[in-house]
Amino acid sequence: MAKKTIKAKEEIITDDLVDTKEKETAPEEPLKLIVNGKRLDGRGFNDLRPIKIEAGVLERADGSAYVEFGDTHALAAVYGPRELHPRHLTEPQQAVLRVRYDMIPFSVGDRKRPGPDRRSIEISKVTREALEPVVFLKHYPKTGIDVFIEIVQADAGTRVAGITAASVALADAGIEMSDLVAACSAGKVDGEIVVDVNGAEDNNGEADVPVALSPKNNRITLLQMDGQLTEKEFDKALNYAVEGCKKIYQMQKDALKRKYSVLTEGLLENNNKGSE
Ligand code: UDP
Repeated sequence: MAKKTIKAKEEIITDDLVDTKEKETAPEEPLKLIVNGKRLDGRGFNDLRPIKIEAGVLERADGSAYVEFGDTHALAAVYGPRELHPRHLTEPQQAVLRVRYDMIPFSVGDRKRPGPDRRSIEISKVTREALEPVVFLKHYPKTGIDVFIEIVQADAGTRVAGITAASVALADAGIEMSDLVAACSAGKVDGEIVVDVNGAEDNNGEADVPVALSPKNNRITLLQMDGQLTEKEFDKALNYAVEGCKKIYQMQKDALKRKYSVLTEGLLENNNKGSE
């Protein structure tokens, strides 16, 4: 009787081992990113994630903004124009724009090691280049304008969310600019061109095209591509990203108007109280 029990146990153990082995060697099913013409989060191909933009969120910065593209959350702070340190970097004829993009350690699944790395140095550089064309640097000679971007939560599109936030923060700081810069990405997932890729789409997709646009000047100030696209697909992705930028541009302007209409209302109220 006892022997039978042991045998049964052995069989169970052997069965378990076979199961596990089969599971280990079975090829993983590729994640379907588009089901019945919809993306996994329910969006159509040309739909942005829910977007939130707020201007003037930090008390101690000269200008600031907070931006959400779905689960990607970015905070931007601007200091300046102010004396530049180290002094030898000063330009006699214009301001020096400096940008630091950073992901905070708990912004991603695996803890991000604090401090700059190759990726953040590259994103800081392309962000500066995306913003510089709209800033009237010559209006502020011998000064520095510092832009800090912190990615609080990352789910793809952090550089475009950061650029969008930084541009609103610069305007909030009262820095003279010819226009705002709005940024958005497009990509290819499951063979389809889609706008504003999220984390799952970025990790499992075929291409990602981040774009920044100064709509009034009709100027693209950032254009990068990761992955492979045909010329036709690239044109479509670029069109989707530019359309996305234009929608985001409107939201940036609304955020600035909201902040300044609240301020104006406050000033009017105080004036009325003073005259009573
Ligand atoms: N990411 C991550 N850890 C890192 C860097 C990136 O998890 O150290 C994720 C994060 O969600 C990020 C995404 O990968 O948004 C895509 O990163 P990419 O370099 O393409 O830049 P992004 O799309 O954020 O501008």
